[in-house]
Amino acid sequence: MVRRALTGLVLISLVGCAGSGSSSGGSHPSRSTTTTAPGPSDPYYSEAGAGVYDVGHYDIGLRYSPDQPAITATTTITATAKRNLAEFHLDFSGLTIDQITVDAAAAGLSRTRTDLTVRPRRAIASGATFVTKIRYHGVPRAIADPGDASDDPTRIGWTRTRDGRVYVVSEPIGARTWFPGNDHPADKATFDIRVDVPDGVSVASNGTFAPTPGSPGRYTWHWTMAQPMATYLATVVIAPMREEQTASAAGVPIRNFFPPRLYDESVTDFATTGAMIDYFSTIFGPYPFDAYGAVVLRDEIGYALETQTMSIFGSDMLGTDQDAEDTVAHELAHQWFGDSVSIRRWADIWLNEGFATYAQYLWDDHVDPAFDINLEMAKLRAGDERHLTRPHNPGVEGLFSAATYERGALTLHALRLTIGDAKFFELVKVWTAKYRYANATTADFIALTNEIAGQDLTDFFHRWLDTNQVPPLPKSLL
Ligand SMILES: [Zn+2]
Repeated sequence: MVRRALTGLVLISLVGCAGSGSSSGGSHPSRSTTTTAPGPSDPYYSEAGAGVYDVGHYDIGLRYSPDQPAITATTTITATAKRNLAEFHLDFSGLTIDQITVDAAAAGLSRTRTDLTVRPRRAIASGATFVTKIRYHGVPRAIADPGDASDDPTRIGWTRTRDGRVYVVSEPIGARTWFPGNDHPADKATFDIRVDVPDGVSVASNGTFAPTPGSPGRYTWHWTMAQPMATYLATVVIAPMREEQTASAAGVPIRNFFPPRLYDESVTDFATTGAMIDYFSTIFGPYPFDAYGAVVLRDEIGYALETQTMSIFGSDMLGTDQDAEDTVAHELAHQWFGDSVSIRRWADIWLNEGFATYAQYLWDDHVDPAFDINLEMAKLRAGDERHLTRPHNPGVEGLFSAATYERGALTLHALRLTIGDAKFFELVKVWTAKYRYANATTADFIALTNEIAGQDLTDFFHRWLDTNQVPPLPKSLL
């Protein structure tokens, strides 16, 4: 994610980042019964996610028409129980449930503002695969990002504009606004997303797609995300859009969806995408998915998000300036760092944002002969040092702050200067290969670094990740 108003968030993080993520369980009451167990034990959003089952696949089918705010939908979840389950939780808010079944039998249901407790007719045995089907309808509503304490907090989840367009940006816990699920990046799954809309309206989503005629005057846009995806990266953008089909020189398909009135400038804004994919593939390892693309909103939402295979950009994030190109590089780099290799705990968000931010500098260094990455990193460290608090475990309010983005990038640059280019870029490639489509932690990253560097860098990482003082950058070896 990139937010234009990063400085506002930075100030908040200075107030609120005092290690809220340790062992307190956060301010929300945890789920308490023995049969349901707390979520994946992530104190950042203790009300989200469940650790007692593992979702393999979501099938989300929904019908929408721009002249009405309501949807009708069916989500089918195929999951495997990790223990015997008399009941289980799904994250879901706001919409009316018409029917719920588990393995085709009606199931009991109770709900709170943020989740469902489902009671199958028969308990599910540990290790068994079970299918939960939920039919629902209503008007989805975005929710405030719980980590954004500003007067006008970022809204996450399903968002409908006044003229009936829809976009979904959910990081961190907005997925519950449009489909029931296990809303935590530790439980990734494949997706089919089918959206039935009137002719003339396009649907951009994750993966690869085939629009098929539906009932008269309507089309079903069927998107398939064949590689595992975290729930916050699932998206739909429903609007009149014009598609651009292209490919990188090395052959990665690119399909972009742009608002018709912004088409020409958007084509220009994303003209470097193919070159970026091919360059990043040489230094990060092969592009992890079947295709890539960007979807541009007409709206000035102030941020961009790395929704898997289809990054979303507010129209105010684009243009011909350096910031805009950096944002394009940032969201693309997230396809490796955050999307393919996902965090297991929100406290490790620097692994996403540090790499995506550093990738901006790597791209600039690649294309601009006058760019001096050592100088730019030194400026980054000096210019904003007072904001560069600990990147690891920064607290919910510090997740999207300069600490995780800029100090995360500085940590990687300091590591590169410490172990040298050859070992650093070997590490990056082994990291994206070893944890491809999976989850990893800061401890995993340190362990792999130590192995590849052939030295114990535990103290180095402690100084860079866990203290509020920014260490000096090592003397340049580049
Ligand atoms: Zn980001």
